Amino acid sequence: MEVTDKVCVVTGASRGIGLGVARIFRERGMKVAGCARSEPQDPLDLFRSVDVTDLDAVERFRDETVEALGPIDLWVNNAGVLAPIGMTRDADPAAWRRLMDVNVVGVYHGARAYLRSLRATGRAGCLINVGSGASTSAYAGWGPYCASKAAVDQLTRVLAYEESDTETRVFCLAPGVVETGMQEYIRGQDAADFPMVDRFRQMHADGKLLDVAVPAEAMLKLAFGPARGDGEVCLDVRTLG
Ligand code: NAP
Repeated sequence: MEVTDKVCVVTGASRGIGLGVARIFRERGMKVAGCARSEPQDPLDLFRSVDVTDLDAVERFRDETVEALGPIDLWVNNAGVLAPIGMTRDADPAAWRRLMDVNVVGVYHGARAYLRSLRATGRAGCLINVGSGASTSAYAGWGPYCASKAAVDQLTRVLAYEESDTETRVFCLAPGVVETGMQEYIRGQDAADFPMVDRFRQMHADGKLLDVAVPAEAMLKLAFGPARGDGEVCLDVRTLG
């Protein structure tokens, strides 16, 4: 698969899956623009400090990326949060709303910014929304996260319908369980807030977490391989990686 010089945007590229994917894409010769609120340790081809809940900032980041690197071939809506974990009945309403704002509205902002620029230029592209197995598996303590990722699955399907008169392809990819700060946060939970915490600690102890190369390669296959991109929601990354 030839990906040299393809231009890619990754949101949430300061650490974790976003930074790992950005590194791998650059090693493959792609030009990568990343954004997050804090700076990544590695240099990217372009980085902007952006909160994905701020549409104007996302649009500025898109425009600066196109100006610096050229038209965007792939946009990965990766930025997401899981905290705070805890029983829904006890949750702080402001924290609940903030999570939905980042995980759902942030994905909408990225999709809107990217799809409008594709329409404006008549170019086709590829949009990948990073989902989660939590969109279909309910975990006590993960109320807003599970709800937000189910919303991302459905939004992906809607976007694919809406873009189906073009060559633009739209996917949702659950990256699998990958070692990041988010997984450390999960393992650090009290069972009172997250009753299934031992399952995640055991997976870690058994060395079952995936390397970030697995979702990175899966994204490349989706974006530049023969997949149709008609809103496909891939919940098992290993089938692609
Ligand atoms: P992570 O290590 O916590 O990294 C999250 C990234 O999102 C960071 O770069 C963070 O940067 C960015 N981010 C958070 N809020 C943001 C905001 N408001 N605006 C811009 N960027 C923001 O998490 P991760 O494990 O890499 O997760 C990445 C994605 O994969 C998420 O969508 C997550 O739900 C999904 N996922 C992960 C796993 C896993 O096992 N790790 C499994 C399933 C799904 P700043 O804090 O610097 O802004």
